[in-house]
Amino acid sequence: MLILLSDAFDRSLPGILSKYGEVTEDKGRLPEAEIVLIRSKTKVTKEYIDSATKLQLVIRGGVGLDNVDVAYAKKKGIVVYNTAEASSIAVAELAFALMLALPNLLCKADRSMKEGQWLKKELKRTELMGKTLGILGVGRIGTELAIRAKAFGMKVIGYDPFVKESDYVVMKPTMKAVLNAADYVSMHMPLTDDTRGIINKTTLAEFKDGVYLINTGRGKCIIEGDLVEALKSGKLAGYGNDVWYSDPPENSPLIDAPNCILTPHIGASTNENLLRIGTVVDRLIGEYIGK
Ligand code: NAD
Repeated sequence: MLILLSDAFDRSLPGILSKYGEVTEDKGRLPEAEIVLIRSKTKVTKEYIDSATKLQLVIRGGVGLDNVDVAYAKKKGIVVYNTAEASSIAVAELAFALMLALPNLLCKADRSMKEGQWLKKELKRTELMGKTLGILGVGRIGTELAIRAKAFGMKVIGYDPFVKESDYVVMKPTMKAVLNAADYVSMHMPLTDDTRGIINKTTLAEFKDGVYLINTGRGKCIIEGDLVEALKSGKLAGYGNDVWYSDPPENSPLIDAPNCILTPHIGASTNENLLRIGTVVDRLIGEYIGK
């Protein structure tokens, strides 16, 4: 049994998985590998699958499976798993960190100090307490964010076509109802045909003025050009973004846009989460081999 670690995992993982067979990080050995472990970088396309002639099992350490051609893998008899439950806290904490950093002007304040300025009078922060957070996609991560927002005294509303009730979120019947009422909006839906480009010129017009938007979901759920216009006009007060059209982004207009805090797709990258992902991967391989 050859297990190929095609993306970055915790350093302990090769040792843990060695009980199942040989573990390699040499991508050139893909044609020999029975099991391939990926995160978001490796794209398991039709061509990738065709060149992996012995492949039986793909495990995506993380949530989204949009970098795997699941239908083609299934057709070829390849089993595809993810480690969906492992990353929720890591991503929710990053979304919350962005939600705190934006209205507290942390990056601007830090930069100004390092540039020798003293903007004590100019930098006016705003508080989360009493504000309304709108969550788009009330699944695992959205729910973890809601729990944290409530602890900060925020009202939490949300939209999810497949979730009608939540212990932590007042569910609204439409996305428009959320956008009309929220002071902060955080995106936690998967990338699907329905969500691709869902935040665009038309839906941005449904936001209140001066809203902070956070996206730790998927980059392609927004139209970047429309978002930059909303930042420039002040329709949006700020944007916190972890996810991109490609990793790393190529020619993204967000890089030069005002009032943005940008991170390089690190939502799942906490030390604790990489360990949790490793534990789930170990269990999934154990169960698969035990079949
Ligand atoms: P989840 O499946 O538990 O929740 C996603 C929710 O989105 C579901 O409840 C689903 O019903 C809902 N949804 C689907 N279509 C929708 C729509 N049109 N409008 C509103 N909601 C819709 O998944 P999760 O674990 O909470 O992860 C959510 C997403 O976060 C993933 O799909 C992935 O894209 C992203 N993610 C990002 C990182 C990162 O590193 N930044 C890490 C993990 C996951």
